[in-house]
Amino acid sequence: MFSIEGLLRENIRQLIPYSSARDDFNGEARVFLDANENSLGSPLIKWYNRYPDPYQWKLKKAISEIKGISPEGIFLGNGSDECIDLLYRAFCNPGKDNIIINPPTYGMYEVSAKINDVDTRRSSLHPDFQLDMGRLENCIDRHTKLVWICSPNNPTGNSMIREDIEILLNNFDGLVVIDEAYINFSPHPSFLQELEHYPNLVVLQTMSKAWGLAGLRLGMAFADKSIIHILNKIKPPYNISQATQELVLKALGEVEGVNNMIRALVNLREELAKSLKSLKPVQKVYPSDANFLLVKVNKAQDLYHYLLSTGIVIRDRSRVELCEGCLRITVGTEQENKELIKAVQGFSV
Ligand code: PMP
Repeated sequence: MFSIEGLLRENIRQLIPYSSARDDFNGEARVFLDANENSLGSPLIKWYNRYPDPYQWKLKKAISEIKGISPEGIFLGNGSDECIDLLYRAFCNPGKDNIIINPPTYGMYEVSAKINDVDTRRSSLHPDFQLDMGRLENCIDRHTKLVWICSPNNPTGNSMIREDIEILLNNFDGLVVIDEAYINFSPHPSFLQELEHYPNLVVLQTMSKAWGLAGLRLGMAFADKSIIHILNKIKPPYNISQATQELVLKALGEVEGVNNMIRALVNLREELAKSLKSLKPVQKVYPSDANFLLVKVNKAQDLYHYLLSTGIVIRDRSRVELCEGCLRITVGTEQENKELIKAVQGFSV
């Protein structure tokens, strides 16, 4: 039986969290002399001398309206990368517990686990990049706290079969974290609406991809409020800057514009895939539900270095398991994609 209390590390359960000045007082006041801020401010940059709202309520309310999830079910991190780290710190005992990844997948799940001294078990995907449910089941033991599902998956670009994820959600007593960083580029629905059915589900999304705001660093974790409460308890007090809170709030006011850009990127992706397929070094362009393409080519490392010499940087994934000979290419602007195609044409196989 899944129980969040049973999953939680004992030291976190007992933790009395840091109480910031803004936790102690959050009413209306005229004079704030409680947080050791600089009351005179900064000569060139105005309005940023105060600490930001530690729980980002205004921003969460705006996100809540777009996503249909209550603000109490939302945690905001300094990028999804912070959410990944905090999940380990909350639930995984260093040197004792383990987590499961389904490689090839996003590298930070394992790096962050290593930083936290948490053992990573690898349940490699099938060659068609779908979950190997048998292998996954065999990886699970009583110390397995968390399973990562990246869908659409980085670097393969495909979405995982929904029924497989549901089987896991229904049968695994730890947390199932679905990383939906690329969900807006996908025709498949998010798992956000499933949160009410699964107490062990955490969905990660980010402002870095479809919303075009990677530089602001804002990641979102959606889950049952008991899980969000724990993440709030252990996060650094002011983890989202005032500038990020204001700018993301502004960006959320333009959903229609973002949707137009997503459509444009998906069209550019399909055009780029078509152009790449006609090129000599290209063996295969994998279908993608994301804003990048995984491409199998002849002489992958030579092509990668050749492109670098022309000033074009892509990602060499050729030594990653199941991605032998593959390069990962982010969909660029129309002009950038043209330059890439022209450069590949100049590469002699
Ligand atoms: N998840 C996946 C699958 C990613 O590919 C990335 C970044 N490339 C992240 C999370 C990190 O996102 P953020 O910028 O929100 O930290």
